Amino acid sequence: MTKTDILIIGGGPVGLNAAYYLLKSGRSVTLLDQASIGVGNASGNAGQIVPSHIIPLAAPGVIPSALKWLLDPQNSPFGMKISLEPGYLAWLLRFALACSAENVRRGIPPLKELGLLSVRNFARLIAEENFACSYQTTGLLCLYRTSAGFDEGQKEAETLLRNGLPAKVLDKAAVHEQEPSALPGVLGGVHFSGDASLNPGRFLQLLTERVREMGADLRPNTPATRLESAGGKITRVIALREEFEPSQVVLAAGVWSPLVARDLRLNLPVQPARGYSLTISAPTSMPRYALVFGERKVAVTPMGEKLRFTGRLEIGAMGRAPNLHWIAAIERAAREYITLDKKLDIQETWAGLRPTTPDGLPILGFSLRHSNLILATGHAMLGLTLGPGTGQIVAELANGVEPAFDLHPLGVERF
Ligand SMILES: Cc1cc2nc3c(=O)[nH]c(=O)nc-3n(C[C@H](O)[C@H](O)[C@H](O)COP(=O)(O)OP(=O)(O)OC[C@H]3O[C@@H](n4cnc5c(N)ncnc54)[C@H](O)[C@@H]3O)c2cc1C
Repeated sequence: MTKTDILIIGGGPVGLNAAYYLLKSGRSVTLLDQASIGVGNASGNAGQIVPSHIIPLAAPGVIPSALKWLLDPQNSPFGMKISLEPGYLAWLLRFALACSAENVRRGIPPLKELGLLSVRNFARLIAEENFACSYQTTGLLCLYRTSAGFDEGQKEAETLLRNGLPAKVLDKAAVHEQEPSALPGVLGGVHFSGDASLNPGRFLQLLTERVREMGADLRPNTPATRLESAGGKITRVIALREEFEPSQVVLAAGVWSPLVARDLRLNLPVQPARGYSLTISAPTSMPRYALVFGERKVAVTPMGEKLRFTGRLEIGAMGRAPNLHWIAAIERAAREYITLDKKLDIQETWAGLRPTTPDGLPILGFSLRHSNLILATGHAMLGLTLGPGTGQIVAELANGVEPAFDLHPLGVERF
């Protein structure tokens, strides 16, 4: 039996950031991952740091859009598993009920606070640690090809401005001046100047090295297989070849969090939402900005000598093999918006699983049943963005410090 201070389960962006801020606060950290540390479901993601994403995934209008997209099997940005498994059906029902104005009203304040904290922490962390990870702070540019799409973009910009976040609507001339790679069919855009981007694989690799230097005991290829509790506390974590007796546990296992916590009788409604990426060598005409193609829901990010495209959201899909049909659809969508060489020099195709809750908000806070278990999961499309803020909050909770904003909307008790 190994006695430890803090035991973190999961070495994706959430677990690694938690390790960093806990170590900074003077705590000792052991971090287990069932696979490599610093990869998770984020190394191939879009690398966009988007505090502008304050509207939760579950919002009015999402279900009709999803149903419409499902009718287009060639190009749909959305898909879902067909299954009668009770946990999955309950999740879908909850998601449908959460697609309300009330959920958006409740979700905006914590997403905004966590996003702004994260963006400040990213800037500080990257500067202090001198990380070379293609960090770009020119903001995110959303491009639109239809007036209906552009109208939606303008509504989103209004919501941001009402909430004190920057968003600038650009007409056709302005958008082409800002982004020369945009094709003539692009008729407008919205610039979110508070957003940023980086190479997520590189960032996580550097963060892994840094937490190791700071003294973290890193255990790759070490799955936590059972959590035991007694007297309202986690007493033992059983891993591959070792048993740990931690003072506190942080559960940051992404889509696997419900599986890791299965013996604890916790209700953690987290479903995978799979997506794909395609990374190419720098094309002849490299976009200046991190981009999102509004109607097609495809994100594009320049990462130094590489350009990455990401897309698709497939609820309930668990495997991680890149699906070439959908990767080709992502490329087709990109060709509608920006100039691309006829033949792309493909470096990598990838699939990842977003840990998604039915109301579109992360789960962040203590377990109600276990006084030494901190839950940090369910970050869906924002796990990279919200990682550094989540890491700081985890450290504050572990150290008995009151976080600067109300965490109740993110508490597991809402389920
Ligand atoms: C196509 C795509 C594009 C995306 N783009 C962006 C973006 O631009 N910006 C953004 O903010 N987010 C983006 N995301 C979302 C982001 O990647 C996720 O939100 C993020 O990976 C979640 O982080 P996490 O640390 O909670 O989970 P993960 O990254 O999944 O990490 C969890 C870790 O836990 C480990 N684990 C699981 N079970 C165990 C166990 N039993 N014992 C030990 N370890 C275990 C896993 O091996 C894994 O390493 C994107 C995702 C996809 C798929």
